[in-house]
Amino acid sequence: MALPPRTRPQARAEEWMRLALDEARAALTTGDVPIGAVVVGPDGTVVGRGRNRREADGDPTAHAEILALRDAARTLGSWRLDGCTLVVTLEPCAMCAGGIVLARVPRVVLGAWDEKAGAAGSVFDVLRERRLNHWVEVTGGVLADECSRLLLDFFSAHRRGAAEAPGDDDGPAGPAPGGTADFGG
Ligand SMILES: [Zn+2]
Repeated sequence: MALPPRTRPQARAEEWMRLALDEARAALTTGDVPIGAVVVGPDGTVVGRGRNRREADGDPTAHAEILALRDAARTLGSWRLDGCTLVVTLEPCAMCAGGIVLARVPRVVLGAWDEKAGAAGSVFDVLRERRLNHWVEVTGGVLADECSRLLLDFFSAHRRGAAEAPGDDDGPAGPAPGGTADFGG
């Protein structure tokens, strides 16, 4: 590569988002909400991968971002993910945003915004909370249509197939009256 990574940030971000989308699609095999994440190291190589495994593991904290952070920490041999970028198909929730801050990740690239639970600017802004000692650079809306389409298709199929379970199936808040789903990401 003759060009340093930052000269084509948008193209790089989309390339990484496609890898996160691959993870998201893999979550469908276990009936999980399709959310995926990758952590890219300082040299531009993928050092961590994760996908939502809440159903697969019966674990309320098994979100894509948390699993990708853990995977990256194992790969790099350090809890500090200095110089890394976390790429995720859906805006992180409060828990995941907290994990991103704790891992000292300097940059997050996200696909779709989560107007109901997002903690990167939609409902909260944990990643840019000035009272915390670590701030994260956020790039939003990368391949957003593709990321949200995957989720909307999942929930519309889910509603058709499991109309008897209107309660907590989709996450803490359940389906919204307007027909949008709670992503539980
Ligand atoms: Zn989360």
